[in-house]
Amino acid sequence: MEVILDFDFKLNKAQVIQTIKSYGKILTDEEMESLYNKLLPIVYETIEPVGIFDIQKREENFNFKIIKDYNYIVYCIITIGDTCSKKINEFFSYGNMKEGMVMDAMLTSYLFEASSQLFNHIYNKSKELKLGLSCRISPGDGEIPLQYQKYILDRLDAENFLNLTVTDSYMLSSTHSMAYIYGADKSLPLSKKDHDCSRCPNRDLCNMKNS
Ligand code: SF4
Repeated sequence: MEVILDFDFKLNKAQVIQTIKSYGKILTDEEMESLYNKLLPIVYETIEPVGIFDIQKREENFNFKIIKDYNYIVYCIITIGDTCSKKINEFFSYGNMKEGMVMDAMLTSYLFEASSQLFNHIYNKSKELKLGLSCRISPGDGEIPLQYQKYILDRLDAENFLNLTVTDSYMLSSTHSMAYIYGADKSLPLSKKDHDCSRCPNRDLCNMKNS
């Protein structure tokens, strides 16, 4: 299992603003700018990014159509920890809704950025092992049921390692976290394409697509 702790702090401001605008006309441009600048140091101080991945032989009974041609699966988890999520809850509980909303958009964008950085590590490892990769496959996105998040967590011993579990409604216990997989196989080309937005059911709502 590979553990990645070294992530660059890069935040896509345009993407954050676009996400907030998609909620409706809640904030003026000046408010967004001012809150973004105010919250940036808080985001920087409270995020605790950790990425883990492991390339394992695909179990025979893990055989959904999208992965059945891959002999290996890359199991992945990315999280930015609970401290930053607690800070958002603090904003909301004190009635600072705008701060909470903007910080949530910033953390969502950073989680996406961290997952892209994790992909670079996965790509390099796959190249070293001469494995080709599928695009990212997330449980709940149409090809694999949402409850398979637990399967991924179990493969990576995430409860012991990251204190990360799955709730009764199959969500991850840490809000700003993701569990997903890639199919991997020696007979496939190695593509640098992490997301396949063209087949994603979230495409119409997603502010991160093809970014
Ligand atoms: S639309 Fe693209 S970026 Fe957004 S979740 Fe789907 S695959 Fe990922």
